[in-house]
Amino acid sequence: MDTKENSPAIIWFKRDLRVHDHMPLYLGSKFGQIIPLYIIEPDYWKLPDTSGRQWLFIKDSLEDLNDKLTALGAPLVIYKGKAEEILEKLILETEARSIISHQETGNFWTYQRDLRIKSLVKKFNCDWKEYAQFGVKRGLINRDGWAKKWDHFMSAEPVPTPSSLVPYFKKPTFNIPTQEELGLKDVCPGRQRGGHEEAIKTLNSFLDERGKNYQKGMSSPITAQWECSRMSTFLSSGTISMRETAQSVWLRQRELKHMASEGQPVGSWRGSMSSFNGRLHWHCHFIQKLEDTPRHQLEAIHPFYNDLRDDPFNNPEARIRLKAWSEGKTGFPFVDACMRSLNSTGWINFRMRAMLMAFSSYHLWLDWRVAGSVLAKKFTDYEPGIHWQQVQMQSGTTGINTLRVYNPVKQGYDQDPTNAFTREWLSELVDIPDSFIQEPWKWPDYEQNTSHEYPHRIVDHLEAAKKAKAQIYAIRKKQGHREIAKNIYDKHGSRRSQNSRTKIRH
Ligand SMILES: Cc1cc2nc3c(=O)[nH]c(=O)nc-3n(C[C@H](O)[C@H](O)[C@H](O)COP(=O)(O)OP(=O)(O)OC[C@H]3O[C@@H](n4cnc5c(N)ncnc54)[C@H](O)[C@@H]3O)c2cc1C
Repeated sequence: MDTKENSPAIIWFKRDLRVHDHMPLYLGSKFGQIIPLYIIEPDYWKLPDTSGRQWLFIKDSLEDLNDKLTALGAPLVIYKGKAEEILEKLILETEARSIISHQETGNFWTYQRDLRIKSLVKKFNCDWKEYAQFGVKRGLINRDGWAKKWDHFMSAEPVPTPSSLVPYFKKPTFNIPTQEELGLKDVCPGRQRGGHEEAIKTLNSFLDERGKNYQKGMSSPITAQWECSRMSTFLSSGTISMRETAQSVWLRQRELKHMASEGQPVGSWRGSMSSFNGRLHWHCHFIQKLEDTPRHQLEAIHPFYNDLRDDPFNNPEARIRLKAWSEGKTGFPFVDACMRSLNSTGWINFRMRAMLMAFSSYHLWLDWRVAGSVLAKKFTDYEPGIHWQQVQMQSGTTGINTLRVYNPVKQGYDQDPTNAFTREWLSELVDIPDSFIQEPWKWPDYEQNTSHEYPHRIVDHLEAAKKAKAQIYAIRKKQGHREIAKNIYDKHGSRRSQNSRTKIRH
């Protein structure tokens, strides 16, 4: 690295808000003076896929990161504005010749911002080095050997925390705005709290206690909130590293194996840990796809499915459907309960995310880009690489995945057999007997009972599903569909690791 005397290195924190297993910070500690920088970008927080709940989690995590960095000798430097203007100013003022960060696979906005920063640093003869923080490979040609490389990356020793840091600024700028100051207005009383300690606490409670019935408990929103790991928000903000998470699971798996070999009862623990380990692979497997094709947030993976559905921006009737879906007022109790729970807590389990998205795309026939953004906003754990791939998979626009049109009524019966979850979130249904709660329109007294505030179902779900499937299958039969689908599979389909016992099916 070019080390002009007294010129600092800028350590640019992005979605990696920790000091442990942090390559840029470690390298910075060897450099001399550093500027540990975080840039709050108001334009990012105005995007349709970002929200106050996401910002508040980041805010917690920045406060925690600042405490850690201060203890090491170099408090966090926080600026607010356009990243390119702030970096230009810093480079000119401090003559910094080196920026070090982790690679970011973010939404299309951050992708374009990073392209602009690349041109900027070139202009100033500054070196921007970016290091991988997941099993995602930049510039990948195909998926051959990908899973093996994942295993290799995750098995390496975590990067040590520096013992001390030398700050460039003696009194750095540190001001973390409230969500209102960023122009955000979000109410999410059940949001997870950020910071590294919270991440460790959550991981340990999962590995030692909550994870026992993970495999069985993950499908229902009632059990999943406790039995799923709840690590997604920590992973998407980088308050804990994926490597630290993976190695903790492996340690637990070795411990369980040892216990089993000694005849101690381990119940469903081993299956659950293996299943969780598999999902950590999926995390990077999905992000890799967006890394390879950033336009997947904007365009259907299979081009035959572009502009297929109703766009709420141009269609007032579709706008009404979108609003009802987003507010949990579609008239389908289980769908509405899931949405209201998500609105209030910032999290819901995988199966219910899939159902919510599929309901919007198939039953309500709404454009996946608009509904996908509305959903992203609600997730505190918004991870563009996972989110947009899943949104497209659940909307049938990849051309390579099996069509999954969830029946919203059946999901209610299956995943909330006692109706406790539905009742918890839908107080309007208090008078409806249990046997009709998932299908209130079948209750003989429903029409007579004018006191209820709950809306009539917005569509006939069986009719709507039939119509949607027919439209998708008609596209699948079109000439040329299969050839394009094969190319998509060759580029993005997974390969299994020889070492890994984990199947990646997507
Ligand atoms: C439409 C839709 C949108 C989604 N959007 C997001 C998102 O924005 N951010 C996000 O982190 N996850 C997303 N997911 C995937 C999944 O639902 C969440 O990762 C999971 O519910 C988070 O809870 P957890 O950490 O307790 O998960 P666990 O089941 O405990 O899994 C552990 C970790 O594995 C990863 N993981 C789990 N399931 C998947 C999956 N299917 N694909 C890829 N990685 C996975 C996550 O990093 C997760 O934190 C989405 C799924 C769907 C269907």
